[in-house]
Amino acid sequence: MGLLSLGTPLTWEEAKPHADLVRERGIEQLLNIWKKAKSKERDILLWGDEIEYLVVSYDEDSKDARLSLRQAEILKDLAHDEELRKAGGCVPSLQEINQKPGQRVPTFHAEYGRFMLEATPGAPYGGMLRDLLTVEPDMKKRRVIAKQHMTKNETPITMTSFPRLGVPEAFTQPYYPPHGPIARSIFVPDEIINPHIRFPTLTANIRSRRGSKVCINLPIFYDEKTPNPFKDPTVQYDLSDYPEDEDVRNGAAKDGHVYMDAMGFGMGSCCLQITFQAKNISEARTLYDQLCPLGPIMLALSAASPIFKGYLTDIDCRWNIISGAVDDRTEEERGLKPLNENKYVIPKSRYDSVSTYISQDPGFRPEYNDVNIHQNLPLKEKLLDGGMDEPLAKHFAHLFIRDPLVIFSESIKNYSVDNNDNFENIQSTNWQHMRFKPPPSAEDAIGWRVEFRSMEVQLTDFENAAFSIFIVLLTRTILSYGLNFYIPISKVTENMETAHRRDAVLSEKFYFRKQVFPPRHANRSGKGSNASPGGSISSTPKPVELGPVENEYCLMTINEIMNGQDGQDGFPGLITLIESYLNSVNVDVETRCELARYLDLIRKRSNGTWETAATWIRNFVRGHPDYEKDSRVNSAVNYDLIKAAEVLGNSEGKGTSLWKGLFEKR
Ligand code: GLU
Ligand code: MG
Repeated sequence: MGLLSLGTPLTWEEAKPHADLVRERGIEQLLNIWKKAKSKERDILLWGDEIEYLVVSYDEDSKDARLSLRQAEILKDLAHDEELRKAGGCVPSLQEINQKPGQRVPTFHAEYGRFMLEATPGAPYGGMLRDLLTVEPDMKKRRVIAKQHMTKNETPITMTSFPRLGVPEAFTQPYYPPHGPIARSIFVPDEIINPHIRFPTLTANIRSRRGSKVCINLPIFYDEKTPNPFKDPTVQYDLSDYPEDEDVRNGAAKDGHVYMDAMGFGMGSCCLQITFQAKNISEARTLYDQLCPLGPIMLALSAASPIFKGYLTDIDCRWNIISGAVDDRTEEERGLKPLNENKYVIPKSRYDSVSTYISQDPGFRPEYNDVNIHQNLPLKEKLLDGGMDEPLAKHFAHLFIRDPLVIFSESIKNYSVDNNDNFENIQSTNWQHMRFKPPPSAEDAIGWRVEFRSMEVQLTDFENAAFSIFIVLLTRTILSYGLNFYIPISKVTENMETAHRRDAVLSEKFYFRKQVFPPRHANRSGKGSNASPGGSISSTPKPVELGPVENEYCLMTINEIMNGQDGQDGFPGLITLIESYLNSVNVDVETRCELARYLDLIRKRSNGTWETAATWIRNFVRGHPDYEKDSRVNSAVNYDLIKAAEVLGNSEGKGTSLWKGLFEKR
């Protein structure tokens, strides 16, 4: 989660007067990189995944599973692992990675929660289809290595949210009572925050800028014995000396909801992210736009977080929790007070869905950017004057309406246009569901990249590999057929909300484009407009008449989006399109069979044969003998749940009876 530069951080009050300077310099650095790298061409696909882990610690005497706060020790131990070091693992420099192409040794990183780890393959995967078969073994290797550097009682699990983070009882190892000057939470101690100075500063400065603690209310899942109306009994009004608690007394905690008040509830959640390097800037822009409508679909399909602060909630995904957890907007910016000190009313948090497309592809229509977004106009002017085109300048000018949250005094003194620190300051604290990433520096070997950020981490590496591989294959299919998934961006935002609903994957419908082939594919003889590619294509493309944008999309189930609709003109389904792509390229039988296994998981998740982790977790709790049917996830239930997640994480996860038994719909 961002660059871990060291230095002397400024409090929000100290940082505020420098905000414009950081933004101006950030734009200068961006222009510098853009000018030098806009013509960069690389011809192969490189990509990588990031997996975030929770480190849990068991107390076998009391049968409790807590969060281990030993992140720093574990990382230190990993860094001193001679074998890993010799092989180039742990924290290799970019130079080292470039010197050893093809050699991948997992690297481990810190994350926001002091109970989290993040691991990446160390060096990118290659662009061959066969390389995809190395993804799952690589992920498994990371899990094994991580475990090797933990104590006997500790284990890494890939669960999106820790069910009992913030409960009134002990939930960390070692125990710390809640409260602390940084988050000022009444539920979690500051000790859960990674102590690297960037993270406490980010936490405190978000709270200070906002003018109050962050505030998250999740609808409770009403079970048979849940008190109705539910009033979160863990909200103790008189626990803290801080004036911020006033807002709890004034109704920040809503009836019928589980209330949370700290950044850690969101950024303490784990996800699966995929970053692609495109062959050039224009391909990166295409991928950014085309994957954008997939964000909410993949969020619903990967849903894995139904429990927060010890309660079953009525949602299945983490996304909006993080959104609320880092929401630094003031009351004015949230539209609660007339604008006076601030410039804009901003509809979204810094962590939210994308609000503007950026590509200049022929398939784009201006109507798709149907949301008026605020832009930092003076800085946009600079980008335009520097030669950047309107859609890209608009994208960055939108990101640059935000303030820098963490400024190190050293970075103000030591400015160089050839660095990217000021640019990254704003860029990396705009956590949208896609991220468009310029090369790290003008001279760097790394190219233009796109990050797909919405997916929840899965319990097994088989699933994590399947989701990663699906997205990679989809990018190949999009580029190969020139597919067009555009829908108005406001519909992507709506889909993002829909994706959170309990069991959205099976019960909800999502806006999706009906006709995804470019015009030359649309008029094939004897076939409907959505017939799969591969047959004969009429040679003279007819000019296409564009009807109203509203006719281009409709509501579909995820099953229809993935597996296709019935009928000649029905949507063919993304898996069908990927299979058609695989049929059109040279791929050996073994690779094809293995890839089919991964696609099968996506197929079965979408049609309900297999459950999402969210459903599995919810059912596990509800079926547990110690669950009192009151929505509360007590420590006995939690212990067994975490143990089961550990077993799953270490299992083969592909057809073993254990995995089948746990995931197949009962
Ligand atoms: N843990 C965050 C999430 O679940 C992502 C943090 C990051 O950008 O690495 O989305
Ligand atoms: Mg991360």
